[in-house]
Amino acid sequence: MRADLPLACSVRACGAALTLRERSFACSKGHSFDLARSGYLNLLQPQDRRSLAAGDPQAAIEARARLFAAGVGQELVHALRTRLAGRAAGSLAVELGSGSGDVLAGVCAGNALVPIGIDLSAAAAEHAAKRFPALTWLVANADRRLPLLDSSVDLVLSVNGRRNPEECARVLRPQGELVVVVPAPDDLLELRQAVQGTGASKDRALGVVGEHRTRFELRARVQVRVQQRLERAALLDLLAGTYRGERHSQAERVAALDTLLVTQASELLFFTPAPRRTA
Ligand SMILES: [Zn+2]
Repeated sequence: MRADLPLACSVRACGAALTLRERSFACSKGHSFDLARSGYLNLLQPQDRRSLAAGDPQAAIEARARLFAAGVGQELVHALRTRLAGRAAGSLAVELGSGSGDVLAGVCAGNALVPIGIDLSAAAAEHAAKRFPALTWLVANADRRLPLLDSSVDLVLSVNGRRNPEECARVLRPQGELVVVVPAPDDLLELRQAVQGTGASKDRALGVVGEHRTRFELRARVQVRVQQRLERAALLDLLAGTYRGERHSQAERVAALDTLLVTQASELLFFTPAPRRTA
């Protein structure tokens, strides 16, 4: 793991800079965090763990990794990578809810971004650190205080994951960019019709724009859409990775699933920090 990242101590009310000392990171007040054997850094505090579920179950992490390997999500990653290719060498890119790590690794592959993935799940960080040891993986609660110094990162990504406008505004540099990806209304439409009998879902992008209105300006809204024929195994992984715990009444429909042409559709929202008012 790199030693030159703007990591902040996650002990409550501390927030001091962390520096690498052999196999651990420590702040000036003596708080210390050991690197895991597989190379990720666990910064999760007990009070941030207690009130939450443990993060993604292992099965969902593995399902998403298999889907990515089968090509699901590749269009989205390609669109993000193309869009972010012009950023200066060494720009820090943080993903909130990095999960299996495939999206962050794919977005940063072949460009000059320095990636940092944050996930609540130690199992996800472990999985990602083993697959992509050159990247930085942190365990932290992205819903609370991000373990990063003020105005220290160039890019924050939230891909169908956690959002935290206040903390994103704090950690981004004034010229930074926040990219939020949410499913478009017709995402997985055919699969939802087959299993749940439902149609297009609501427009999530409008809600995201509203959440960010006071701290960010929306610069662009882009849709990425592809249709792909998926085998039964991939459809089951999609269900495991996205719609958790399908109801018992849907079990028969799930059992009958065969290959299906499925729409994958995402909305990409590109925000820049609103100019800060001086007091
Ligand atoms: Zn500290």
